[in-house]
Amino acid sequence: MIMCKVYAVASQKGGVAKTTTAENLGIGLVRKGFRVLLIDSDAQGSLTSSLGYTQPDNMEITLSTILEKEVNDEVYDRTSFGILHHEEGIDLIPCNIELSGLEVSFINVWNRERILNGYVEKLRKHYDFIIIDSGPSLGLMTINVLAASDRVIIPVQAAFLSIKGLEQLIRTIGRVKKGLNPRLGIEGILITMLDERTNFAKGVMEILGEKFGSYINIFKNRIPFSVKVAESSAEGVSIYRHDPKGKVAAAYTGFSEEVLANV
Ligand code: ATP
Ligand code: MG
Repeated sequence: MIMCKVYAVASQKGGVAKTTTAENLGIGLVRKGFRVLLIDSDAQGSLTSSLGYTQPDNMEITLSTILEKEVNDEVYDRTSFGILHHEEGIDLIPCNIELSGLEVSFINVWNRERILNGYVEKLRKHYDFIIIDSGPSLGLMTINVLAASDRVIIPVQAAFLSIKGLEQLIRTIGRVKKGLNPRLGIEGILITMLDERTNFAKGVMEILGEKFGSYINIFKNRIPFSVKVAESSAEGVSIYRHDPKGKVAAAYTGFSEEVLANV
């Protein structure tokens, strides 16, 4: 039996396929028979809208509502409140713009870095995997995500590798491990949006290997670039549903298996 494992998909760099990876890893694991909860922790609500809930800002119950209840120590049914059931078998806690206001109001809350952690701990027994998508920042919400997680998956866009950005992220993860969450570790770096027609793949792999390979896993599966990804988000379904025979579906299946092999 697998104990629940909590993954953060994180990077302060925007547009590196965090959301796409959270969604397709999550549904990839559902397709292997596991119970998976996705948590959208980005005020942009991209994960929420890419699963077909196209107007996140009009939703009444979101992660913000839940975190407010946690802060106020309210009694409520955590196994059902705010959890959406997507047609592909995955559960989702949606998020919207309200989170940005809430994040500011948390500045004065006691134990403000551990609000999400308290919630996630109570849901662990109901899922095999919990995957949290974070926004492009290293602000308080992302610290909450790291404090609530066991492992971090770091997507890196093949064509725009930022060594400095990666080093800053790795330092932040180290600080959270030291101060807030000793079990936190880096699961690996995932190369995304790879254009196989260029030579970037080889160069990026070499640089990543040189700089980080001795102490960070770099996933063998890499995610190719394909317009099918944007199409699948517009349709509100995963890449497995939108383009089952395509190369991105194959890559995310391989990546999901690689993650499972490390559990
Ligand atoms: P943000 O930092 O804003 O949260 P993100 O890191 O979550 O962004 P995504 O939203 O997953 O990134 O992806 C950014 C854009 O790139 C989206 O339009 C998405 O459809 C597209 N995209 C993601 N993966 C791929 C891919 N493999 N091929 C082509 N386009 C992709
Ligand atoms: Mg995103």
